Formats: sequence, C-alpha cells, structure tokens
Amino acid sequence: MELIKVGNNTYYIKNNTNIGIYKVDDKNIYLIDTGNDKDAGRKILRIIEENNWVIKGIINTHSNADHIGGNKYLQDKFNCPIYASNIEECFIKYPVLESAFLYGGNPIKDLRTKFLEAKPSNTTNIKELSDGLEYFDLKGHFFDMIGIKTPDNIYFLGDSLFRKETITKYHIFFIYDVKEYLNTLEYLSTLEGKLYIPSHTEATSNIQELIQINKDKIIEVCKFLIDICNNEKIFEEILKEVFDRYNLSMNINQYVLVGSTIRSYLTYLHSEGKLKYVFKNNKMYWSSISN
Ligand SMILES: [Zn+2]
Repeated sequence: MELIKVGNNTYYIKNNTNIGIYKVDDKNIYLIDTGNDKDAGRKILRIIEENNWVIKGIINTHSNADHIGGNKYLQDKFNCPIYASNIEECFIKYPVLESAFLYGGNPIKDLRTKFLEAKPSNTTNIKELSDGLEYFDLKGHFFDMIGIKTPDNIYFLGDSLFRKETITKYHIFFIYDVKEYLNTLEYLSTLEGKLYIPSHTEATSNIQELIQINKDKIIEVCKFLIDICNNEKIFEEILKEVFDRYNLSMNINQYVLVGSTIRSYLTYLHSEGKLKYVFKNNKMYWSSISN
C-alpha cells in the first residue's frame, strides 16, 4: 500500500480498493472505505500511525465487502463513527444481507466467506457528516452508493466507474440498477473536479473516456440480451449464453454476482419495453418484444 498526496489535505492509499484520506487538521483524518479485510485494516493502521494521525471518522461509499473489510478492525481501534447511506447502513451492520441478497435466499455456506461478507460494524447516517466533506448519490452499482468530494475539489467515486481492463476482460461488472447506473454516468460527465479517484483504478483528471467505455459496454450487453431472447429462454439459459459469449468461467461467486447483474439487466429491459416474460409449463421464459 502506498500513500499518495493529491491535494492540500487529500490523500489516497493505492490498493486493490483505493482508500481515501482527508485531513481535517494536523492530527484528525477521515478515511474513505477500508479495503478488503482485517489485513487491509492493519496496513492502513500502519500508515496512519507513521503519520501520527487519528481516525476521526470513516466513510463507506457502499457496503460491498471489499470496501468495508477493514471497518471493524479500525473502528475497534479508534472508536470512530462509520458514515454510510441508508440501505448501505443495513448491509454494513448485517453483512449476511449481502450474500443473502445475491443468492436470493438463505445463502449456502460457500458464499459466506470474506469475499462477500465482511465483519459487522456500527454505522452513523451520512447526513451527519461534517468538516467540509460533501457527499452525493452514485446509485446504480449498489442500492445507495455515494461519492465524496473533499474541499480540495477531489472526487472519490466508489464503484461508479469500472476500469477499462476489467471491462475488456470480464465485460459484466456488477450493477444493481442499470437505469440508475446510466443516470449516474450522465451525472459524472457534468462534474468539474480537479481529480477523480474511482475505487479500482488510478486517479485521473479526466473521466470522460472511462464514462464512455462503461456506457458502451452496458449498451452492448443490453443488445446481446435482446438478441438472445429472440427465442424464448429461461434465466439459466440466458446466464449460460452470457458466460459463453464473454468467456467467463462459472463458480459460486461468479454465478451469484453475474447472475444478479443479469437479473437487473432483464428488469431494466422489461421496464424499457424491450423484453417480456411468460410462464409456461412452470418455467419463466423471457423473450424480446419486436417493434
Ligand atoms: Zn468495489
């Protein structure tokens, strides 16, 4: 983990999930997200101690395990509030909600790992955040994801933008609400920040290309789903076609993550009047609506 200064009082720790830092004064800092697990928490603590800082508060952009994994460890050390937004607060307090939501029922034990379930921590609603930090909605990737703007005009963008390499390699990135994700991309294109820090890619002063890459892939996936539903298909067949087309290999985690995302795409296309469903022989079939 490497600490990088990007503004007067704004830093980030480069990590597979980037960690934001905003310095309120010489001693007190806010953290934005806490990495994958306790081990990430330990490494963050080392950097904080080296700088003689104290965590005044932690902000979670959203509740996915790779963003809140160090929460409990750091909250136990500093007894600090963890700010999060609405539904995200529930998932952070009760992490079983994540695996249960993705699986769509009582999750089988192979899903109940730190990859999907962090240790629970206590939350405070983001509305109580102060010290000049601003938050804003970034819905789409997850229920109530937020971004943070520091007074240095630096934006922490959570998972509202996926990196080019991830999109080229995996094609399907997790989306809970496709329409909101697209709205968020539009919103991002209007920002005038000095620097943008998405959680899983390098800091950049220009996000326009990345916005377009994310948008193009969503449009491509929509077209593909409409296309394969020219013949009626049940969900498992649709999911297989997606894995085949994009050369993905199925395991229990990918099954629920890609599966949940494809269900959300089907909902979006249904609400847009592009797909319909029908029950036949006790199976649910999806088919495209030809105009
Ligand atoms: Zn993430």
